[in-house]
Amino acid sequence: MERHPVIVLARGLFSKTSLSLAVWSRRSGWMDVTAKGMLRPRNNRLGDMPDEFDVSEMTLYRRPDSLYPILVEHNLEAPAPALRSDWLKYAAFSSMRDVLSAVWKGYPADEDDAWKIYGILAGLQASAPRVNGLILCVAGIMRILAVTGVAPLLDGCASCGADSSPGGWAVSWLDGGLVCTACLRRNGRQREALIDRGLVEVLIRAAGIPADNLAPLKPPSLDRSIRLLAVLRRWCESALDISPVSLPRLAAALQGAAP
Ligand SMILES: [Zn+2]
Repeated sequence: MERHPVIVLARGLFSKTSLSLAVWSRRSGWMDVTAKGMLRPRNNRLGDMPDEFDVSEMTLYRRPDSLYPILVEHNLEAPAPALRSDWLKYAAFSSMRDVLSAVWKGYPADEDDAWKIYGILAGLQASAPRVNGLILCVAGIMRILAVTGVAPLLDGCASCGADSSPGGWAVSWLDGGLVCTACLRRNGRQREALIDRGLVEVLIRAAGIPADNLAPLKPPSLDRSIRLLAVLRRWCESALDISPVSLPRLAAALQGAAP
């Protein structure tokens, strides 16, 4: 038997009576766990179904012939805040899951990374009721990118070192982070999307300040928020070779579209 502090990332059907749970374990990162018989109306020994983004402690059994560890027992430690009624926050956590899945699904994280990511998710989950959804999303993705080693450099132009750029900044995977407009012009790349200094500050602060202190951070105006998400999405696409599908959903939720 193994004990794992986990955060539930996703739930799916494994069979008619069993669930498959994707969880992030503090010990070993992404794991797909089978909850046998959890959907049986009777003789379900596992108790209530864990919900997405619950923090829980799971006891698992690993059968030598089985690909997935089997859930033996789970104790809810911190239920997910009412995320389903807040689509912005739900999409924020879903986009963190998309990024985690791109990096670690099928590749066990080393203990250090597993522990760091668990801390990021648990910290943001605990502060979610007080923090704006867009800020949660930016904070989560930037922190996960940092653990992964592919966060954009945000202290000045990554190409020439300039620390101001009156026309705004591009965030370019080619250069590793911010690029000033002078460098863009020099290289004939004037068509890159730009973000202003205020949005760069949002990235820096959301990535750097403790989750407990995120609450006072105000989201940018609607069109600047959309722009920030677009830049973040493009970075994830280049850095991780995936498109976190929840980011466009979050943008739609910001604009008031029904999920
Ligand atoms: Zn430059």
